[in-house]
Amino acid sequence: MKEITLAPLPYADDALAPTISAKTISFHYGKHHAGYVKTLNGLIAGTKYEGLSLEEIVAASRGAGDTAIFNNAAQIWNHDFYWQSLAPSGKGGEPSAELLAAINASFGSLDACKAALADAAVKRFGSGWAWLLVKDGKLVVESTSNAETPCGKPGVKPLLVIDVWEHAYYLDWQNARAAYVKAVVDGHLNWAFASGGFALVD
Ligand code: MN
Repeated sequence: MKEITLAPLPYADDALAPTISAKTISFHYGKHHAGYVKTLNGLIAGTKYEGLSLEEIVAASRGAGDTAIFNNAAQIWNHDFYWQSLAPSGKGGEPSAELLAAINASFGSLDACKAALADAAVKRFGSGWAWLLVKDGKLVVESTSNAETPCGKPGVKPLLVIDVWEHAYYLDWQNARAAYVKAVVDGHLNWAFASGGFALVD
């Protein structure tokens, strides 16, 4: 059968240290993310989902009662997007002129955009994700709970995400989620990646 595969990490496992250590990556990517892939492949074997792309599985299982399939597929998609949203310190580039203009229009400044993203990440109660999104032609910051994902939502295009499940930061930061978020927002957001995916209209 065609299986869902674990996307390669786009940098070395120590490339985000000390904000995100190689030890955190070894569990977060090597156990949690890889675990979602293994679990999903087990769940879809012999079902109508077998052979579909990851995005197709997220779309088909959303709201269909196949909660475990949705949760595992959405978590794989979110983690793929998270690793791409991050970059080694100093390697994330800057927003393109087009993206920066949209940031200024929606938030007033890049610093205010970063502050809004950090605020959403810190305030997400429990496990989840904080997103910078294009939504209905505007840039917005939102957070989602647990495995919930903007993948496949009409009119929504994610640009960046921060994982605020405890497994993302507990080994390095323990309970200090705000410090982890600040270190990510200040030093590791991949604005080149966000700029590549940016368009206010498709
Ligand atoms: Mn995670």
